[in-house]
Parts: sequence; structure tokens; C-alpha cells
Amino acid sequence: FDAIEKTEEEKETVDLSEYRDVWVFAEQREGALMPVVKELLGEGRKLADEIGCSLCTVLCGNQVEGLVNELFEYGADKVYLADHKELKSYRTDAYTAVIHDAIKSHKPEIVLLGATHIGRDLGPCLAVRCNTGLTADCTKLEIDEVDKKIKQTRPAFGGNLMATIVCPNHRPQMSTVRPGVMETAKRQEGRKGQVIPLSVSFGKEDIRTRILEVVKQAGEAVSLTDAEIIVSGGMGLGGAEGFELLKKLADKLGGVVAASRAAVDAGWIDHSYQVGQTGTTVRPKLYFACGISGAIQHVAGMQNSEQIIAINKNPGAPIFEVADYGIVGDVYQVIPALIEALDK
Ligand code: FAD
Repeated sequence: FDAIEKTEEEKETVDLSEYRDVWVFAEQREGALMPVVKELLGEGRKLADEIGCSLCTVLCGNQVEGLVNELFEYGADKVYLADHKELKSYRTDAYTAVIHDAIKSHKPEIVLLGATHIGRDLGPCLAVRCNTGLTADCTKLEIDEVDKKIKQTRPAFGGNLMATIVCPNHRPQMSTVRPGVMETAKRQEGRKGQVIPLSVSFGKEDIRTRILEVVKQAGEAVSLTDAEIIVSGGMGLGGAEGFELLKKLADKLGGVVAASRAAVDAGWIDHSYQVGQTGTTVRPKLYFACGISGAIQHVAGMQNSEQIIAINKNPGAPIFEVADYGIVGDVYQVIPALIEALDK
């Protein structure tokens, strides 16, 4: 909040021309990069090329040097590395302090974070400290041809319209980006870049939180964004029991179950399984839409799947317009037949 209390005079002294480069927050958990980082590197490369600047990442953790080469291979030109035992696991105060110092010293033009639990926490804290804006949950980023500012698009008013937002007078321009929306960067084996160590030292007062224990979510974790095969169900299932049938098919194929919002609203399955504009955006190799009509808000979240198979009783259902294969029929006949065929 210190930054917010700056006087108008102090704010006006920000020289926008000092800011350059696109930064991606290299979110890691237990020493592994989150998949969204590679998506942000893919998107960040396009932005950096259009502006004519470097693509950098900021990596925080403990003994995470092993990830540096991976970041270079996915397109980072520079890695700002903060390696310290206090940064082993994410903590708001520690990560904010380190990355804010790095931003102050190196002045990036754009900072991108995944709209993960961590990114959604860290992004606003950094934006406040930097006295800049943040566009949360972006689904599209582009550079304005004339003034080279970033245009950030995100769903607004409960997904009823798409808002395009610019950050005219403050720097860096910051966005969190929905996982699964941007294309993953192509890996270039052996690609090298520059490592810039960040000096990290914490005073007694800097870190006010301690991690006593990490408790993993019990039961089946839904990871729709990482799933290669998704078997998704809608109102056509007629009830919660339909998802048990879908689970059988998903298990056979090594996939996971998902749902339309209407099925979630009906209480048949938890919200964490929802695909679409107000749910998760997915990009699996194979997406089954079973008893789903294909409303625009659902399609927005799954249309980038590599292959879409739709099963629907109604040959005129809009889902068939985006499907690669369409099966006109009752899910309760088609899916058991598929399972039987797979068993054989
Ligand atoms: P329906 O539209 O009722 O379709 C059911 C389909 O099942 C029909 O096509 C029918 O022919 C077929 N069917 C029926 N019985 C059978 C059977 N036995 N076998 C085979 N087929 C059968 N929706 C989302 O999914 N995700 C979102 O994130 C989302 N966000 C939204 C945000 C906003 C602001 C708004 C206004 C809406 C949003 N919606 C979202 C809702 C969306 O508009 C649709 O209402 C919803 O996707 C419909 O779900 P459905 O296809 O399961 O149901």
C-alpha cells in the first residue's frame, strides 16, 4: 500500500521509455514448472517480437537452477533467478518482495503471470507495490500496431461481454492469463540464454508467514487443463448418475470427466469440473461432448481441442458445428457400446 500513497507529483515522474522487455513469472511447484509457464512463453515470444525486445522470466525457488535450461529451451532469452531457502514454497510476502525489487531495478514493460491460485494472489500484490494496473484472467493479448501498448482482453460482466483493457500511463503493464488458452511454446533443445542472479536477503520483518505443513487436496484432483482426454457431460445425461457412465469411459481411455455449466448448476457435479467461459478453458487431444448442446459459452472453453467427438440425440445441435466426429444418438446407447468396443 506504500505505492498507492505516492503523491501525484511522484507518480508523474514515471518515465515510460525506461521500461522494456516482456517478463513471464516462471511459476514452479515442488521444482516443476507449471504448464501455463510454457503457454506464457509461447505468447510472450509473439509480444516481444512485435515490440522488438527480449523475453525474460523471473524464477523464484530453492535449488531450482535445474529449471533454467528448460526456460531457455521454451524461448526465454534471460532468466532472473532468485534462489533462496525462504523461497522454496510460495509465500505472498517473500515472493512479492523479491519480484518487486527485481521489477524496480530492471523495469520490464510487460509482466505476465498464469491465472493460477498463485498468480491470482501474486499479481495484485505486485501491481499495488508497483503502483500499476493489472488485468486479471486474460484470454487474449495483442500489441497495438500504433503505440505498441498491450491490449488485454478478458470476459467481463459474468462473461456476457469481452472487455479489451489498456494500461496507458503506468508500468509495467501486467496481466494474469487463463491457463489452457494460449498455445504452448515449441521446445528448442539446447537453446541457451543469460542467467541474471537476483540478490535476495530478507530482514526479520519481511516475512510474516511460515509454512507449517502442506496438505494436499484429498480425493481425486481435477486437472482439466493438463488432461489429454476429457469426457464431458451435459444436461443430456439426465442426472448425476450419467457421470458414473462417463467416468467408466474416461478411465478406459486414461482421461478425466468434465461438465457443462447446466450440469454443474443442476448439482450433478462439482463446479471444478466445469468447462467454458466461466469455467476452465481446455485444450486436450480428445474431447468428448456427451449430451451437450454446444452453447457459445461452452464452446469458448473447448473449441481448441485437437479432436472433438460429439454425441447428441439432436442432429441439429450446434455442437456438431465444432465437432470433428458427430454421433447422432442416445448417450446411454452410444457410450456403453464404445466401452464394449474398447474392452474388445
Ligand atoms: P442443454 O443446452 O440443455 O443441452 C442438452 C443437450 O443434450 C441437447 O442438445 C439435447 O439434444 C441433448 N440430449 C438430451 N438427451 C440426450 C440423450 N439421451 N443423449 C444424447 N443427447 C441428449 N455453459 C458452459 O457449459 N460453460 C460455461 O462456462 C458457461 N458460462 C456461461 C456464462 C454466461 C454469462 C451465460 C449466460 C451462460 C453460460 N453457460 C455456460 C451456459 C450455456 O449458455 C448453456 O446454458 C449450457 O452450456 C448448456 O448446457 P448443456 O449443453 O449441458 O444443456
